[in-house]
Amino acid sequence: SGSGSASEDGTKKIVGGTEATFAPFESMDDNGNIVGIDVDVLDAISEEMGFEYELKNVGWEPVFSQITTGELDFGAAGITITDKRKETYDFTDPYFEATLMIVVPEDNTDITSIEDLEDKKVAVQINSTSHVAAQKVLGQTNPNILAYESQPIAYQEVINGAADAAIGDNTVIMEYLKNNPDAPIKTIEDDSFEKEYYGLMVKKGNEEVLNMLNDGLKKIKENGKLAEITGQEIE
Ligand code: GLN
Repeated sequence: SGSGSASEDGTKKIVGGTEATFAPFESMDDNGNIVGIDVDVLDAISEEMGFEYELKNVGWEPVFSQITTGELDFGAAGITITDKRKETYDFTDPYFEATLMIVVPEDNTDITSIEDLEDKKVAVQINSTSHVAAQKVLGQTNPNILAYESQPIAYQEVINGAADAAIGDNTVIMEYLKNNPDAPIKTIEDDSFEKEYYGLMVKKGNEEVLNMLNDGLKKIKENGKLAEITGQEIE
């Protein structure tokens, strides 16, 4: 793939990576297809811009490493735009606003904020914004931070008692609770979690792919298609 290739009829084709355990943004349906908000956004953008794309379920950390090596042209995985990531990658404008949330056992009474996690076992997704948030309170290398490849695994560690709490993305936690209404967990909000903005990500300097994605995103913001897909207005 590299920086994209042309399909037989000359239409530009780009290859993206994702981690499909992040409903409602990406998950696998019963037929083995990746579905969700990120797929709908990519469908709308590619239709506007007249390119083809393929989205591969490579896993969370490979999204980053395979963009770096050039195996993937872009990442679409509910990826938060952060200053740290901007050192190595370029992002489109934001397409979704989110924030972090805490998950605890439903009978827990002593955790009411992020500060209460200082001496607790906290499950997170590795190298996610939740991981960074946990490190801020518990310290960079604290072994009480349990880091997994996906967020639902982190929530399950709270359910099975291996962790006292998990941190994750609000929309994804709410979707998990909707799909698992009997899960014995509840959510804690903390205003000190800042707003996060998801963007589509490319290797730093890959202007060709970035512009294709960003120009399409601008169009679907203007024509209302993005808000229709996400249920949210964003600048
Ligand atoms: N938004 C979070 C981040 O970018 C989590 C993304 C994900 O798990 N797919 O770190």
